[in-house]
Amino acid sequence: MSKIAVFAGHGGDQAGASYNGYLEKDVNLAVSNALTEILRSRGYTVINNRTTDVNRSIVNDARMANEQGVDAVVELHMNANEGEPFTGTEVYYSVFDQGTGRRLAQAIVDNIAALGFVNRGIKTRVNSAGQDYFGIIRLTRAPAVLVEMAFLNNPDDMARFNVDEVANAIANGIEEVIPPSVSGGTGSESSGGLPYQMPNYDLSYGATGDGVRWLQWYLNRLGYLDTPQEIDGIFGAKTQAALEAFQRDAGIRADGIAGRVTRAALIAALS
Ligand SMILES: [Zn+2]
Repeated sequence: MSKIAVFAGHGGDQAGASYNGYLEKDVNLAVSNALTEILRSRGYTVINNRTTDVNRSIVNDARMANEQGVDAVVELHMNANEGEPFTGTEVYYSVFDQGTGRRLAQAIVDNIAALGFVNRGIKTRVNSAGQDYFGIIRLTRAPAVLVEMAFLNNPDDMARFNVDEVANAIANGIEEVIPPSVSGGTGSESSGGLPYQMPNYDLSYGATGDGVRWLQWYLNRLGYLDTPQEIDGIFGAKTQAALEAFQRDAGIRADGIAGRVTRAALIAALS
């Protein structure tokens, strides 16, 4: 049975955007609760970060999703901007994820847009270190998307916005990409946002290929390699220095070789 993390953005002291009497945290929660109910009725297992108006932490949310081994993470938000009241729906996904996460983002944005909202498309956003800007996308191992459902400060968007309809549209998008039963659908692909298979051999200076990309992906996610461009599949001096720094921090012998113990430590560090 597929397991989905449905997270409502903000909450408690953190209201998010606030316009025309709408609080973002309340809209996010209403859709989150409706979406959870719909998904469960279709046979999904669903976990939530909150089901009421309480404070939350993105770090804890991400840890819960990782510990629970979810197949996907969907975090709900409302857009707003200070200038013009822009309009429409958009969905963010990981800059490293050309697979399930990207397809999930596309399916969700298309289904919401089908309700009459302007389709602003799917997007990625990176920080100055080249990592995903949004914490929930950066810190989770499963494919994660951040849904900006519509613009809170656009009266037309809010007139069109029906909680149950939007929740149903998002559920349809999820179902298109990740069916309720894993065996009937995405199979091994549902194992997470990590686009490379773990190598079952040691990696050291001079190695090349997808095994090295697997290592570089972890080093990037953990902050030891700066930019996604460094996930190039070539184990050079930079990768070696990053790996040794990780090994020192992890209390492993800093030999610059990604052996079995180091590979396990990389996985543990992100979980
Ligand atoms: Zn928000």
